[in-house]
Amino acid sequence: MSEDPAAACLFCRIARGEIPAAIVYQDEHTLAFRDVNPQAPTHVLVIPRTHIPNANAVAAAPPGVWEPVMATAARVAAAEGRGESGYRLTINCGPDAGQSVDHLHVHVLGGRPLAWPPG
Ligand code: 5GP
Ligand code: ZN
Repeated sequence: MSEDPAAACLFCRIARGEIPAAIVYQDEHTLAFRDVNPQAPTHVLVIPRTHIPNANAVAAAPPGVWEPVMATAARVAAAEGRGESGYRLTINCGPDAGQSVDHLHVHVLGGRPLAWPPG
């Protein structure tokens, strides 16, 4: 088995174009694509191209990895027409939050009222 976590990582594979996805935005640092199981009219996942397993790993990541992710998330929300009506950015980290893919991703959710607190 490969020791490179990016080799088999689902979202790295999407970023490399090995697995198809409905890409809505991409640049040098980030990729944004529609969630395959949308939970709201807008449900886009934003990832850094650099493989980082979760939010815990952001502090130790190279500089310049996190900021473009946040910028892309806001850009996507605006492009989806949610900038003024509102949207939610969610990062699930670890089992209690239900993280199911171990590549840092921000969920961009909008287009319906979003309950608070979340369930
Ligand atoms: P998590 O539960 O880790 O916070 O979010 C992972 C998300 O990835 C889920 O919302 C799930 O629907 C989505 N997902 C899982 N596999 C795929 C896939 O192959 N393609 C896309 N576009 N989304 C996926
Ligand atoms: Zn990855």
